[in-house]
Amino acid sequence: MVTPRPRVPYATAMKSYLLAALLVTAAPALAQQSLSTLPPPVVTDPKVAAIRDNALDNDHYAWDVVEGLTTEVGQRLAATDAEARARDWAVRRLKAMGFANVRIEPFEMPVWTRGAESAEIVSPFPQKLVVAALGYSGSTGPAGITGRIAYFDSVDALRAAPDSAVRGKIVFIDHHMMPAQDGSGYGQFGAPRRQGPTIASLKGAIGIVVRSIGTDHHRNPHTGVQYFTDGAKPIPAGALTVPDAEQLVRILKRGQPVVMHLTLVSQKSEGGHSGNVIAEVPGRDPNAPILLLGGHLDSWDQGTGAIDDASGVAIVTAAAKHIMDAGRPQRTIRIVWFGAEEPGGFGGIAYAKAHGTERYGIAGESDFGADRVWRFSSQLMKTDPAAYAQLTAALAPLGITRNDKGEGDGTDVDPTIQAGAPWVSLNQDGTRYFDYHHTPDDTLDKIDPEQLRQNVAAWTTVLAVLSGGIESGPKQPKRR
Ligand SMILES: [Zn+2]
Repeated sequence: MVTPRPRVPYATAMKSYLLAALLVTAAPALAQQSLSTLPPPVVTDPKVAAIRDNALDNDHYAWDVVEGLTTEVGQRLAATDAEARARDWAVRRLKAMGFANVRIEPFEMPVWTRGAESAEIVSPFPQKLVVAALGYSGSTGPAGITGRIAYFDSVDALRAAPDSAVRGKIVFIDHHMMPAQDGSGYGQFGAPRRQGPTIASLKGAIGIVVRSIGTDHHRNPHTGVQYFTDGAKPIPAGALTVPDAEQLVRILKRGQPVVMHLTLVSQKSEGGHSGNVIAEVPGRDPNAPILLLGGHLDSWDQGTGAIDDASGVAIVTAAAKHIMDAGRPQRTIRIVWFGAEEPGGFGGIAYAKAHGTERYGIAGESDFGADRVWRFSSQLMKTDPAAYAQLTAALAPLGITRNDKGEGDGTDVDPTIQAGAPWVSLNQDGTRYFDYHHTPDDTLDKIDPEQLRQNVAAWTTVLAVLSGGIESGPKQPKRR
């Protein structure tokens, strides 16, 4: 899917023109007065604009990374051999691109892997449904479990139910998530997946299925992490596809008891290995605060993790490479391909433990697909208003508006931000993100190369504005 470059819609342009004309003819004094109270103009450094526009028009680095990683490695489930192959791939690629100080920083974590999974209605209308285990799901064992369905339309409804309504049954939680540009539904409607299994277990359920936390109507289940907390014993926990969840609701509405046979065979063990891959564009001033950008290298295991999050590591790496191509920044740019984000942000925590006390100019990450950036926000609004104004001006030609009410987000850099790093957030268009998120459909073809380049241009702009100035490298001496 290719969308046109962001530009001012004709109707909006006409409206502002008419308004300006009205102000000038009807109330010239008023127009002049308001102009004189405006803050001084912010003009983007032509060098920054040129680096940005070159990334927008010509970037191929991001596509090369996302295409290479998803093709040559594929899925990269945390703490598995696949993720280790991905780290080796990353080191080779980052070195080949000319980055300095390329290294792996390893850490240990539990490893969870998926086994056989199936769900079927035994009665009243026998039929198969499509299901996927959630991360850290308990195992049914190969024989599976059979139980009556206890239906709830929300996590709160489950929480309010007496234990007797749940004990010995398979809980099913429904919800009504809708697509949204800012992806805000994921927070609230993700509760069935995140909290449902623990509540169901504490009330004595033998298993749980939730409607996938997704906005599509394809028969792809959406996996994702959940934890058993508060001493809850792990029970089998899965996600039904959206069409299968709707089918189950229709069957339940017929009023007869519904019995499901559920098989989710999965394994968890301690002592798994993961790691962060780190690379730098060294700054001219080694003591200047670091510009930290990241994405995560691991993925769920059904698709190839193209939009979650090969595109993210590709975008920030390409942005750093554009600065490297332009010359030497004053501040060091550090790129991190975080390990094991999906099962609980292990890489971000390990990174902050090792590097959280270093000085940062900014910390940000790209982890919301590859559709265009439409809005940004940053703590610099308060701590460095001049830099914030520069960012606002330099990002505007990419169709990006500032959001003065924004806040830092992102699992990977959050522990470093908590340790004191100032944050920057570039919000990507999430309208179709949850159609593919954590499904077998998270594959390369979902990435629109033009929107990917706009993302690269946006992060390149952030780095260029905050670089402290980029000096062209020494010219190669001419051969005589
Ligand atoms: Zn992600």
